[in-house]
Amino acid sequence: MSQNDNLFKKIMRGEIPSSKVYEDDDVFAFNDISPVAPTHILIIPKAPIDSLDELTDDDATTAGKLLVAASKLAKKLGFSKDGYRCVINTGAQAGQTVPHLHLHLIAGRDFIWPPG
Ligand code: 5GP
Repeated sequence: MSQNDNLFKKIMRGEIPSSKVYEDDDVFAFNDISPVAPTHILIIPKAPIDSLDELTDDDATTAGKLLVAASKLAKKLGFSKDGYRCVINTGAQAGQTVPHLHLHLIAGRDFIWPPG
């Protein structure tokens, strides 16, 4: 699947509806369609990066912005104090299903470790 056609590109372009929670020049964030916790947000770079495995030094700022967005959202949405989890599934064995880098921001319940 080319980057132009991946699901999250279509969501960013508004071709597939989503519930957007944050956007800036580099990052787009929206609610996951199948939440695994009371809060489940996907934070993605606008740049066409397929997965964490593709990152180079040139992507350091963009990658950092995903984490900054997660931190801002945690404060803005009020779960910063209780805690939250950030997950980036990378590759088939880790369960990545959409070929566009995305950070899961999940909160609102207890989480176990190690994850499944
Ligand atoms: P992955 O499994 O690749 O780490 O995460 C992909 C995520 O995308 C899943 O949590 C899945 O629920 C979510 N997802 C798949 N299709 C859609 C969609 O059409 N809209 C939204 N908002 N999320 C989706």
